[in-house]
Amino acid sequence: MNAICHCDNCKRRTGSAFGWSIYFADEQVVGRSGELRCYEILAREQRRWFCATCGTTLFWTIDSQPGRTGIAGGCLVDPLPPPTRSVVNHGRLAWLCTNVQDGGA
Ligand SMILES: [Zn+2]
Repeated sequence: MNAICHCDNCKRRTGSAFGWSIYFADEQVVGRSGELRCYEILAREQRRWFCATCGTTLFWTIDSQPGRTGIAGGCLVDPLPPPTRSVVNHGRLAWLCTNVQDGGA
C-alpha cells in the first residue's frame, strides 16, 4: 500500500498535514544503516524506528499488519512512487488539495 493518511497519529508523526506511508514485505526492506532508535507505542501496537542522529522517523511495524514494514514516503530516494490512496479522509484538513484517490474511512 502506498497511501497518504489524514489521521491525527500520522499528522503528529510527521509534524505535517498528513502522513505518507508505503508498506513493503519485511524481507524487501534492506540496506538499513546508521544508528537507529525505536519508539514503541503500546496503545497502537506500533514500533517506530528513527535516526538516532537527526530524529527522522524512517520506518515502523504495526502488530495488526504482521510481516509488513511501513516506510515514510519522503525518506525514499527518487523517483518517489506517487501515493495511490488517501485514507482516514474524515481527518483531512479543509484547505488541503491533492489528486490522490480516496481509499477509505
Ligand atoms: Zn494515519
